[in-house]
Amino acid sequence: MAEPTSALMSTYAPPAVRFVRGEGSWLFDDTDKRYLDLLSGLAVTSLGHAHPEVAAAICAQSSRLLHVSNLFGNEHNEALASELDQLLGGSAGQPLGRVFFSNSGAEANECAIKLARKFGGRGRHVVVSAYGSFHGRTLATLHATGQPQKHEAFQPLPEGFRHAAFNDLAALAEAVDGGVAAVLLEVVQGEGGVNPVDREYLQGVAALCKERGALLMLDEVQTGLGRCGEWFAHQAYGIEPDVVTMAKALGNGMPIGACWARAEVAAAFEPGDHATTYGGQPLAAAAARKVVEVMKREDVPARANAAGAAITEGLTGRPGIASVRGMGLLLAVELDGVPAADVARLLLERGVVVNAVSPTALRLAPSLLISDDEVKLAVASIVGAIADELAN
Ligand SMILES: *Cc1c(COP(=O)(O)O)cnc(C)c1O
Repeated sequence: MAEPTSALMSTYAPPAVRFVRGEGSWLFDDTDKRYLDLLSGLAVTSLGHAHPEVAAAICAQSSRLLHVSNLFGNEHNEALASELDQLLGGSAGQPLGRVFFSNSGAEANECAIKLARKFGGRGRHVVVSAYGSFHGRTLATLHATGQPQKHEAFQPLPEGFRHAAFNDLAALAEAVDGGVAAVLLEVVQGEGGVNPVDREYLQGVAALCKERGALLMLDEVQTGLGRCGEWFAHQAYGIEPDVVTMAKALGNGMPIGACWARAEVAAAFEPGDHATTYGGQPLAAAAARKVVEVMKREDVPARANAAGAAITEGLTGRPGIASVRGMGLLLAVELDGVPAADVARLLLERGVVVNAVSPTALRLAPSLLISDDEVKLAVASIVGAIADELAN
């Protein structure tokens, strides 16, 4: 527990638990009580905690070379960029796009926003995003985040951002004029409540962007890398974005993000236009290469689909559950008659980690390697906790 004397800034609510170690889908606190982790650090540890191969890659790299700056090459970042490009439709000898590595999701989006401005040129710099979205906490990505209540205390925010209602093509069409460089969207709004995009909307947005010469930029920081049952969630919609950002799952806990852009778009950046000290450094890139290798071998998109379907089936129609929505293993359990925060608190007491993503919904984002027995335990625990809260 954070004491009143804590030296930490109070940007986060005082923690209820302090975790000290993990293994696969399990976490252990400082009293050695164990918890089934159905949140994965907010969709980050997609291969589970302390994955042995990722841990070994980190250990090996840490005693080999940690950092050399981006003035020089390193042995991992080109190969990692190529792997990511291939997951997005490129081939080994013929990349479809180019990648810039960052340290976080917000920084991957900052790169996308700067690239859109450089590509668009003077007079064409506006980025349109959706209400209810989340794109990060830096000043620019905060303004892209379509939650005006989060903006208030930090005005004035950087100019050049505009919002339109999510899943409303007419509203978006109205917002995209000649000054718009790009549309920035999540395929499933994660922080906003696990709200999936409508198929016709996303396809309509892609067509609109093409017609009006605006870039389609997808923020797959939470949805990417197998979480939603595809390597990238947009691949279920048959569209071709110009820019895709990712982060959370890429390092399985090692901080790394990436901004991928179609080659013609990426070409707008020249040496000196954008940079970061740590982005793509050997340790993070070595971890991410191993993460991608294990993800491919385990076919995590297929596993996310299978486990997501099992959880959805197990929870749908049970008392106190109005519906289950989402894609793959990014799910929201919409409750009926019981506050999500109360259920989350009871589950934590009982050793199960979930998150109240809204006052009425629980978010589930377990390890993509969750076992069948763990799925059964997850379903039984959630159903039991809701039933007990309802009976209260
Ligand atoms: C988490 C998240 C971000 C921000 O990532 P950070 O690593 O916290 O900067 C951006 N976009 C989406 C969709 C996210 O879920």
